[in-house]
Amino acid sequence: MTEKNDREWQYTSAAHDAVDERHHGSINMPIYQTSLFAFETYDKFTAAGQNQQNLHVYSRGNNPTVRYLEDKLAELEQAEMAKCFASGMAAISAAILSTVRTGDHIVCMDQAYGPTRMLVTQYLQRFGIESTLVDGRSIDNIRSAIRPETKLLYLESPTSGMFQLQDLKACAELASSRGIVTIIDNSWATPVFQRPLELGIDLVVHSCTKYISGQSDSVAGVVLGSERLVSRIAEDEYMLFGGIMTAATAAQITRCLRTLPLRMERHERSALKVANHMLGQPYVAGVNHPALSSHPQHELGLRQMNGSSGLFSFESTESTEKMREWASRLKYFKIGVSWGGFESLVTVNPAGASCRAGARSLIRLHIGLESADDLIDDLDQTWAAVQDLNL
Ligand SMILES: *Cc1c(COP(=O)(O)O)cnc(C)c1O
Repeated sequence: MTEKNDREWQYTSAAHDAVDERHHGSINMPIYQTSLFAFETYDKFTAAGQNQQNLHVYSRGNNPTVRYLEDKLAELEQAEMAKCFASGMAAISAAILSTVRTGDHIVCMDQAYGPTRMLVTQYLQRFGIESTLVDGRSIDNIRSAIRPETKLLYLESPTSGMFQLQDLKACAELASSRGIVTIIDNSWATPVFQRPLELGIDLVVHSCTKYISGQSDSVAGVVLGSERLVSRIAEDEYMLFGGIMTAATAAQITRCLRTLPLRMERHERSALKVANHMLGQPYVAGVNHPALSSHPQHELGLRQMNGSSGLFSFESTESTEKMREWASRLKYFKIGVSWGGFESLVTVNPAGASCRAGARSLIRLHIGLESADDLIDDLDQTWAAVQDLNL
């Protein structure tokens, strides 16, 4: 990986633009609030139609404000090309559908994002596309799941419940030797902490709803990779399904992107402080955070990521009911899905099969931009208030 421990260039990339005289030097890209682009002559119209990826004909295909964000995201992820979508799932479904046809087979992580797994294992079955879910912590599991008709290896590292990793370099080598395309959901790490394309992965997808936005006010997604793969998606899935990003959303996400490296470093620092604090709590059976040395894949994490974000989980020896009462009384942690925003969040679920022996509940925390000390006080004081409840 180039410049592994140097993310200074990303600060410049996020903050700097050349003066664009087409927009009177406007320091922000204007919002092109238009559905179509008109032409004075038929010759110009015809020429634009033949190069729709770079010229502008219709906003379902290409809009200058969206394109501006795509180029910025591509630079941060070190990708040749990016295409922005209406949501993470619009990006994920377009990327997956671009790789398979009837009779093909997909190998997918068994802990991938729920709707992604549903798309792969249930929805695509309608079209005669088979799949196998695997525990991707072991490359041998992935190798054994591959069939002659496997066309896609779908990764998510770390996963967003138990924070399990896949060895991305090994996955990329295995897949490319078998002619299999690799896609990774990189929403957790963001390009600030992990750039899978540099490790040989073919396509990266993000739910920009999470850290890339960071403001909990937009739903958005992106696919990044080589021009060969992404331009095919732009011509087919983007144009044909129409799950596009609007110019207004692109302007909003561009604004968020300016502070992405800054926010990620803050999320990282605060989450590590809270995670280390949780390790020592009597009601905690274990903490799942890839940057803790107690994480079984800590070494792999150090090799393929240069930092960690603000979402992790811990397992509790206490009941789901008791931990839900605790969650309900927390002052700074709100109960809610999603993550990646300024606000701290909590969810509580029954411990799953992959949890430690003795764990009864699995609690996921998103550490927002508040003071880590305030968050720790909140967690401790609320625990003190509920610990004697008979739940
Ligand atoms: C939220 C999420 C998605 C889906 O993104 P949307 O923007 O909600 O469509 C995909 N992957 C992961 C890991 C997520 O957390």
